[in-house]
Amino acid sequence: MCANTIKKAKKLVENGDIVKIEDGLYQVKSSSDKTKSYRVTSDSCDCLGFKNFYKFYHGKGLKANCSHLEAVRIFEKENK
Ligand SMILES: [Zn+2]
Repeated sequence: MCANTIKKAKKLVENGDIVKIEDGLYQVKSSSDKTKSYRVTSDSCDCLGFKNFYKFYHGKGLKANCSHLEAVRIFEKENK
């Protein structure tokens, strides 16, 4: 996972751009467009980056990730 993803994720958490909808379901604002937000669970996100991940890295045994998903992980850790 690239450092930039973590950096973006931390920024989202710091900015309070994560809203918990229910257990395991979050709404995370887009870091590039504040009018947009994504629905994120503990292992999926509906942003384009996440959807495209498997197209780009298909069959390499990697788990898809994006800054939103990472942000939720940080958020969950901090709010335990
Ligand atoms: Zn995402």
